[in-house]
Amino acid sequence: MSGGGIKPAQPFAQAARVTLANAQMRRNLRHATTTIRDKRQRAVSELPDWEALRDEGAALKDHALANLGELLLDLEAAVQARGGQVHWARDAHEAREIVARIAVRHGAREVIKVKSISTDEIELNAGLEAHGVHAIETDLAELIVQLAEDRPSHILVPAIHRNRAEIRDLFRRRLGAELLTDDPAALAEAARAYLRGKFLSTRVAVSGANFAVAETGTVCVVESEGNGRMCVTLPDVLISVMGIEKVLAAWSDVAVFLRLLPRSSTAERMNPYTSFWSGVTPGDGPQEFHLVLLDNGRSAVLADQVGRQTLRCIRCSACLNVCPVYERTGGHAYGSVYPGPIGAILTPQLLQLEDANANTLPWASSLCGACYDACPVKINIPEVLLHLRGQITGQRPLDAEAVAFRSAAWIMSEPFRFEGAIRLARLGQGPLLRDGAIRALPGLLGGWTEARDLPAFPQRSFREWWRTRPAPPAPPERADAAPEPDLGEPLAPHREETR
Ligand code: SF4
Repeated sequence: MSGGGIKPAQPFAQAARVTLANAQMRRNLRHATTTIRDKRQRAVSELPDWEALRDEGAALKDHALANLGELLLDLEAAVQARGGQVHWARDAHEAREIVARIAVRHGAREVIKVKSISTDEIELNAGLEAHGVHAIETDLAELIVQLAEDRPSHILVPAIHRNRAEIRDLFRRRLGAELLTDDPAALAEAARAYLRGKFLSTRVAVSGANFAVAETGTVCVVESEGNGRMCVTLPDVLISVMGIEKVLAAWSDVAVFLRLLPRSSTAERMNPYTSFWSGVTPGDGPQEFHLVLLDNGRSAVLADQVGRQTLRCIRCSACLNVCPVYERTGGHAYGSVYPGPIGAILTPQLLQLEDANANTLPWASSLCGACYDACPVKINIPEVLLHLRGQITGQRPLDAEAVAFRSAAWIMSEPFRFEGAIRLARLGQGPLLRDGAIRALPGLLGGWTEARDLPAFPQRSFREWWRTRPAPPAPPERADAAPEPDLGEPLAPHREETR
């Protein structure tokens, strides 16, 4: 299982049909994304240099990706020089085994985790369970998802599809807080009381990483609740799992991303907790530090000239919050820990376009471009979507759909063929018409009318009407009008005469 938590179980269209039927989820999602979207817009418009900052972020990431091999070796050397240990994981399986081995070696039956999408990507919790180790999520939203035995549906707010009343009921059931109300402060307090004991008694922690700096060997986690800070400082052993694309060349680069990330993700000027650590410090914080560098398909993405910009992503989730498709289908429809526009390009690429279900994701888009406008590192998501669509359809054998589209292209390439086809369709539509519309087309064409009606072909097309319309009356001649200038003989016959 090298794909881990990124392999969709169904094609997108099929999964979306299920989630679209959940009206409560759609209401929760619309409310949440609209609120975040508006706040983010206000936060970014405060900065007069926002566009320049986006350019800088994109350039720094591109530089890091262009020198990835070298920077990762520098990072490894710097972490080791500060007493840390570095592990290289080719895929999800290897990464899970590395983390489990370290936890088991320390006799851990429980580990605490700070929110980390890369550990969701490798399905670490299930991997640890197989070794008798239980992972406890400490991020509030992740904890909600874990207690509900649910799946995350958003990069930043994994429980975005749940409302406060649902969370209150869940905490009453799972945490024994019977008198709990749905007041956000009361919900946070219930989670805090549960987690505090875990922070104080658990010896091994697992984190992700937002960035890692090659020149200093410093790893960074950015978060809002402070639970991450507890995880990376209180236990004896800290294991950080990081996608290889998170490396930055220099310490000064971090400053750019600490301006871009909070405004794009939570619409804050500065996020509340930013934790940095470099190896180990005797007598202060974890005394054993392991950094797991995860590839899991990233090298293949890097090799693609168009697709590699996907690896610039800083997981801010701005593209999800502006996407009309995500807002309606929710994150579960994408079937991967990476939902929304970024998921639609990242998931199939990480799986190297070899997964039939993941290969439907590049079509989960209206190509409106809102994601590109919102992305703080200027990933041209529509460009990558079209690139992937081309690659995926290019791999397919010539099937009935491809033949139909090629025929349509041939018909539309000449006006007389197109007009002839319209005339034929008008003659043949009779048996399919109901109340002036075609409700269901036969055979393969039925996909078009599955979710919408096709308007009936009109008795006269626009072109036919145009050719037969009466000539407009000539404007009345004015007595004082200047005489027409003599332009001589026309150089070529009028276009009408050549038809
Ligand atoms: S693609 Fe851009 S907007 Fe979307 S999560 Fe990544 S960085 Fe944020």
